[in-house]
Amino acid sequence: MNRIVFIVKGNIVFIAVVLFSWLTMGSCAQKNHESGINQNSGMKVTEKIFKSEEEWKKLLTKEQYEVLRQKGTERPYTGLYDQHFIKGSYFCAACGLKLFDSDSKFDAGCGWPSFSVPTGKGHIDEHKDRSYGMVRTEVVCSRCGGHLGHVFNDGPPPTGLRYCINSVSLIFRSAEQIENEKRNPTDSIPISGE
Ligand SMILES: [Zn+2]
Repeated sequence: MNRIVFIVKGNIVFIAVVLFSWLTMGSCAQKNHESGINQNSGMKVTEKIFKSEEEWKKLLTKEQYEVLRQKGTERPYTGLYDQHFIKGSYFCAACGLKLFDSDSKFDAGCGWPSFSVPTGKGHIDEHKDRSYGMVRTEVVCSRCGGHLGHVFNDGPPPTGLRYCINSVSLIFRSAEQIENEKRNPTDSIPISGE
């Protein structure tokens, strides 16, 4: 009988230890979220996303696929965000990574949305682009590799840079929407299909 009581007590201690560990892990996960991990997927900002071209075709619209995956360029003065100056943030249309804030957006008169600085270090990668007989600097989303546009050295101070970005590569969320969704301002947004 005494032995049975001992086993029961042992199980209670075991359950208490498991419960404590689970609660502790839960608080770590919360800390990770605060330090910039996507609330929806638990994915780090800089964690790369790899998908087959077939998967991208299913996830993106025809226009998004042509620009983001085939390095196309939308016609100037036609993009949704060219003359768009609402306070908020711009996210990658392919993976939802935050790329630009409205504070850095300006009207360069070039026909495409222009930004003077990305939202944070490590959100955008640069590649030399020698297509069409020119040497330009292509900018891509650092997480999914999606083509965004190019960066030029004729932007306003203090950076002197002009990130010339295709509207179809971006998804905008107003500051009010971000506030209402109780989303961490550094968070990514979920993309349908993920
Ligand atoms: Zn992306």
